[in-house]
This record gives sequence, structure tokens and C-alpha cells, in this order.
Amino acid sequence: IANEKESMYLVSEFAAKYFHNTLLNTEEGKAIGLSYFKERGFTSETIQKFNLGYSPNIWDAFTKEALQKGYALEYLEKTGLTIVGEDKQFDRFKGRVMFPIQSMSGRILGFGGRILSQDKKAAKYLNSPESDIYHKSKVLYGIFQAKQAIAKQNNCYLVEGYTDVIQMHQSGIENVVASSGTALTPDQIRLINRLTKNITVLFDGDAAGMRASIRGIDLILEEGMNVKVCTFPEGEDPDSFAKKNSFEDVKNHLENSSMDFIQFKASLLMNDAKNDPIKKADLIRDMVVSISKIPDRIKREIYIQETSKTMEISEDVLFNTLAQISQKEI
Ligand code: ATP
Ligand code: MN
Ligand code: MN
Ligand code: MN
Repeated sequence: IANEKESMYLVSEFAAKYFHNTLLNTEEGKAIGLSYFKERGFTSETIQKFNLGYSPNIWDAFTKEALQKGYALEYLEKTGLTIVGEDKQFDRFKGRVMFPIQSMSGRILGFGGRILSQDKKAAKYLNSPESDIYHKSKVLYGIFQAKQAIAKQNNCYLVEGYTDVIQMHQSGIENVVASSGTALTPDQIRLINRLTKNITVLFDGDAAGMRASIRGIDLILEEGMNVKVCTFPEGEDPDSFAKKNSFEDVKNHLENSSMDFIQFKASLLMNDAKNDPIKKADLIRDMVVSISKIPDRIKREIYIQETSKTMEISEDVLFNTLAQISQKEI
């Protein structure tokens, strides 16, 4: 098994080099992939730093090259780079720009590939399948490039996508990672927890996504971490915002619009429930569930006091609800 995994790492490393080289040194790569990245505002330095690439729009170009270089079909298949059919083999990522996903120590574990055409039928992003080396619930995109900055700043920004990580880096904010489309998992949180106790979740500026993500944040509280959230204007994500604005403006936005998660949730829910007492009762319960996840008792008490103010309900009621919820869990 150790040898198998090593072979999978080697194939993945080869693939990253192949895609990167194709992007920079072939006519197709330059005309399609490189011009796409340039249009998004990525500099050559950024493209190097994140080892970005391009997979040719030919059904088996990469697989053919890898086999010719002596990489075994077995490992091409196990890493998901090649899809093996009955009588032919083809490239999973054909015609996509490529984002290699690295471990904390920089090894290539898998890839995300973005489609370039407007073809609405195909998925915008395609990822490597789960394998012995790629467990999507245990990786954070950008952690290799961000780890020093996270420790130094003693804070980690968590964004939704690959391009958010990259654009923020380019703006000069390097303590950023992405969960890449999946809900945040305990393993991902623990990865961050090794570097800092402070997470700021940056939401894309669309209300639906934000409400969906809020659930997962209780997991971060359970790990005893401090959580802030920051929103962006409607229709913007950290990528588009950082592309449009200067480093100073982005930094100011992050500083001025970040809000403690519990307070944020309380005011968001209150807004939803304004004149509906039944809804409000549910939401208060929901708030107390979040607060009950916080391991530190003093912090819990402070949050009860604050929530009492925001939601206009007595501390006693909140403390009683907290006691009920805690009892149920024991
Ligand atoms: P872009 O700016 O390139 O259009 P994005 O990063 O803003 O993309 P979102 O639509 O905000 O993309 O989605 C956030 C993340 O979710 C993506 O970066 C990607 O990791 C994941 N994702 C999005 N769409 C898909 C999809 N169709 N299949 C799998 N993962 C996806
Ligand atoms: Mn989004
Ligand atoms: Mn987005
Ligand atoms: Mn985007």
C-alpha cells in the first residue's frame, strides 16, 4: 500500500508538471488556458505559485503522454486522471484549466478543473475522485501556500472557491484557504486548528449560499475555535471583490465588515423572524444550540448575555434553554 500511494503521488506530480507546461509552452495552452487566467487578472507569478495548468482539449492527450513516459495505467486510473473504458482510455480533465490541490507539505493530492466554454450542461468545476491519496474531506485548497501566513497573522480566512484563494493571495492577503464547494468538515477544521484558533468565514454575496453555510459553522465552535464571518456585496465573491479593489480597500473591508459569528447569526435570524413569534421561538432555540457547542463556559455566558440583547429575550429563558439542550446531549 505504501508503494501504491507513492506511485499515485508520482503520477499526480507528473500530471501537474504536464498541465503547467501545457499552459505555458503550447499554442493551445497559451491561446486558451493562459489567456483565460490573464483575463481573470492572474499574474505569471501567481500562475507559478499555484502551479496552475491546462489540460488539452483532445480526449487522450495527457494519458498518452503519461503512458509513453512509463507511468502505469493502473495509477492513472486510481488517481482518476484517466478514465478507463472498455476499449479506450480518456482524460478526465480534457479541455479544462487546472488547479492542483496540495497537502500541507506540498504534495499533489488531486486536481480541480474548470470548464472554459459556456456549456451549461457540463459541471463548471470537476474534481479528482476520492482515492487513497485524495480525501476531499481532509484537504483545504491553498493550505500549503497559506500555512505560514495563517500562523503569523494568527487568523485564517475561509473562502468558497479556488479563485477566491488565488486572487486574495495576489492582493497580498495570504492567510486564505478554501473548502472547495463542500461543507466544512471536522478534519478540515482540525487542519486549521493546528495553525490558529481564529477563523473568519468569507461568504459569497448571495444569500442562499450564506444561509446554507451557517449550519456548518457550529462545527467550528465545537472545536473551541473563535469564528467571525464577513459578507461581500450582492453578486460579489472574494475573488471579484479583490480583483476590483486595492489591497487597502480589501483589508479595510475584511477588518470593518467582519463580525462575531454568534452575533451575526442572532441578527440575521432576528431579521428573518421579525414579526413572527412562532418563528422567533424556533430561532432562539437554534441560537442556543450554537452557543451550546462552545466548550468554554465563560464564553458561553457572554454569548447568552449578548444574544439576550439582540433577540430581546431574557437571559433566564436562554439559560434555561441552554440547560435543557445540554442535558439532552448527556
Ligand atoms: P468562478 O469564479 O470560477 O466562476 P467560483 O469559485 O466563484 O467560480 P462558486 O460557484 O462560487 O465558484 O463555487 C465555489 C466552489 O464550489 C468552486 O470553487 C468549486 O470548488 C466548487 N464548485 C462550484 N461549482 C461546482 C460544480 N459544478 N461541481 C463541483 N464543484 C463545484
Ligand atoms: Mn458561491
Ligand atoms: Mn464564488
Ligand atoms: Mn467566482
